[in-house]
Amino acid sequence: MKEIPLLISGGRIIDPSQGADMVGDLLVLEGKIAWLGPGGSAPLQGDCAVISASGMIVCPGFVDLHCHLREPGFEQKETIATGTQAAARGGFTTVCCMANTNPPIDTEAVIEYIKGKTKEEGKVRVLPIACVTKGQRGEELVEMGKLAKYGAVAFSDDGRAVTNSRIMRHALEYSSLFRLPVIVHCEDIALTEGGAMNEGWVATKLGLKGMPAAAEEIMLARDLALAQLTGARLHIAHTSTAGAVELICQAKGKGISVSAEVTPHHLTLTEQRVLGYETDAKVNPPLRTEKDITALIHGLKEGVINAIATDHSPHTIVDKRCEFARAAFGISGLETALGSLLTLVHQDKLDLITLISKLTTEPAQILGTRPPVPYGLGTLQTGAPGDVAVFAPQIDWVVDPKAFASKGKNTPLKGQQLVGKVMATIVEGKIVYQDETIEIKPA
Ligand SMILES: [Zn+2]
Repeated sequence: MKEIPLLISGGRIIDPSQGADMVGDLLVLEGKIAWLGPGGSAPLQGDCAVISASGMIVCPGFVDLHCHLREPGFEQKETIATGTQAAARGGFTTVCCMANTNPPIDTEAVIEYIKGKTKEEGKVRVLPIACVTKGQRGEELVEMGKLAKYGAVAFSDDGRAVTNSRIMRHALEYSSLFRLPVIVHCEDIALTEGGAMNEGWVATKLGLKGMPAAAEEIMLARDLALAQLTGARLHIAHTSTAGAVELICQAKGKGISVSAEVTPHHLTLTEQRVLGYETDAKVNPPLRTEKDITALIHGLKEGVINAIATDHSPHTIVDKRCEFARAAFGISGLETALGSLLTLVHQDKLDLITLISKLTTEPAQILGTRPPVPYGLGTLQTGAPGDVAVFAPQIDWVVDPKAFASKGKNTPLKGQQLVGKVMATIVEGKIVYQDETIEIKPA
């Protein structure tokens, strides 16, 4: 069946990949970006659907390098159906799902399962990240070549660090044969054992065991040294401390092949959110301090940190409604990412173009172009996948977890007003989410 072309008209089109920032029209044809230019001049013949985007931003669909879709194994927390619906509501058109499922993503069978489920129930593109070690036990490497062939886009034992440095070295050596990055969760568990939040005065006040910044920085320093030794590609998950930004900056200066991401919550919330034993603010790495936030934002602007990734970690109410020390780590983040990040733009701490770049073009560059990553991901260049996010930067709304598509209602932002709302999300030319106020008219 031939699809009707989609014209997104009158919006401010921002595509950092080609330095585009203009008010105009964007045409999506047969699932691909066909044209962008001044309003009223699109090369159109016959029927088309029109989204009027005046006053809105039109940009490449967001690419999330780090989310937990929980399926297979933890369907009570999230499924591919609900997680990708949440992604669509958040403006994300591609999400990379982490390997700590049950069974974990360490065989081609699990990758095939995820592909099949995504085809049946997925709203957005799902790219699987495979484990580094079998069962994430840190003992034996997965069959990286085979998993890369079946569609793994990176390797990660996220949730824990690969503690054995020799195994980590081998992981980097093997992954470099396929030019795929190893994504590392930097945590020296000897220093964080029993910890529930950032080590500092708030933890002391609450009588909770802290997780020091040094626990992240020690493991990061080791992994950077191993990346230098092997020449392999290293990607740092959820960077959260000022010291980590400094280490990554130095490593880049030495020519080490490293990229890094930061989450919306580490950019906008401090450890003070935990006051009152707020389990929805319990996350790993923990929320840090104002000083860390300043360094992370500076790192984004200077190109030390390449991408913003949600680390969307949905949990059930039971996982969170318990004593703080026993509550699960994680924040359900896909549906609030844009709204909370726009706070930084409204407060003049970050410019809009940089923000969009860190959500689109730059994470896509980290994924490269090896299949299943499509050519042109994260851009609005002609011939790229017709993946588009349309958002209204000035519309305010109140976070109501009950209205989330995600099964994970665990957000410290509940009841908070955010300014900036996703109005429509388009994947390969198909509208996968639209705000109730958006009208789509025939031309
Ligand atoms: Zn992690």
